[in-house]
Amino acid sequence: MTEINLGTTADMHVHLRDGTMSKLITPTVKSGGISICYVMPNLVPPITTKQQVEEYHKNLEKMAPDTTFLMSFYLCKELTPELVEECADKGLIHGIKCYPAGVTTNSKYGVDPNDFSQFYPIFEKMQEKGIILNLHGEKPGIDEKDEINIINAESKFLPALRKLHQDFPRLKIILEHTTTFESIELVRELNQGKKQGDEIFIGATITAHHLYLIIDNWANNPINYCKPVAKFHKDKNALIDAATSGEPWFFFGSDSAPHPIHKKQVHVDVCAGVYTQCNAIGYVAEIFDKFNKLENLKKFVSDNGIKFYDLKEEILAKHKNESVWLIERKNKVPEILGNGEVEVVPFKAGDELKYIIEWRKN
Ligand SMILES: [Zn+2]
Repeated sequence: MTEINLGTTADMHVHLRDGTMSKLITPTVKSGGISICYVMPNLVPPITTKQQVEEYHKNLEKMAPDTTFLMSFYLCKELTPELVEECADKGLIHGIKCYPAGVTTNSKYGVDPNDFSQFYPIFEKMQEKGIILNLHGEKPGIDEKDEINIINAESKFLPALRKLHQDFPRLKIILEHTTTFESIELVRELNQGKKQGDEIFIGATITAHHLYLIIDNWANNPINYCKPVAKFHKDKNALIDAATSGEPWFFFGSDSAPHPIHKKQVHVDVCAGVYTQCNAIGYVAEIFDKFNKLENLKKFVSDNGIKFYDLKEEILAKHKNESVWLIERKNKVPEILGNGEVEVVPFKAGDELKYIIEWRKN
């Protein structure tokens, strides 16, 4: 029977929301097998001030004191290089998330990726301070002539990533929740020639659900609908190959994004987001097992992300006494998660997974 010590695990893209949803979801970071998570700032209103980020962090810690929450700002014109510098120096933020306007949940405050130039002073400061730029890599369509749709929006965004890397070669950039063959190819291309131990500036997160889904799986099931949408077999296979490869620029970011059940089971305006937090490691392990790559699981869910974020010893020290273990034991995904106030349907609800996690003292 397989038992693997995954050490300190990291999920570098989570949505923990606020209010009653946050109360339900935040403790499931730990129960899903994650020690450290990187928290997205797309609340209403989005996280753009020092006070907001401090308060949000405090609330999350109160709900789940064993978990480390790495915080982020929402890229917008209210941010200043001075604020970024202050919050970076105090360790309050690790990155800034860029949402193209209008592409996903609460992205109406987002930016126009056709022209990032107004943010160049911010990017300059981020590069200097080692603050990460997290990109939601989808290009919004302005009018019909653009021929942009949910299938090609990510590929059409890639020239913007290429240009940013050219203009800021030492800015750490993550293409979040990559879903296409083209993105995987580009991330590899931009890291060409890197040797073991070299500093890496371009990374990509990959979710659990995109290792399972293609377009057919969300076309008839709103629970599997998320942005960017799952694409084709060729894309899914490229994601699985990248995730299981052990290459240091690919790491886990679940993009677990809960919505109340009544916002998913509707005919119009289905909310985009798949909730995977409660079995984050279990879902990923199943795929690694299927492709005989369990030996690379720790790189994907622990080492690569922690290294890319260059997490300091004082952050890691909190997790020295406890490890996440992957255990081969049948594990049924709950049909629904609820706390009397809000209910969420998890990914693969009711299915049986092959693996479960346990927290063990070192
Ligand atoms: Zn997200």
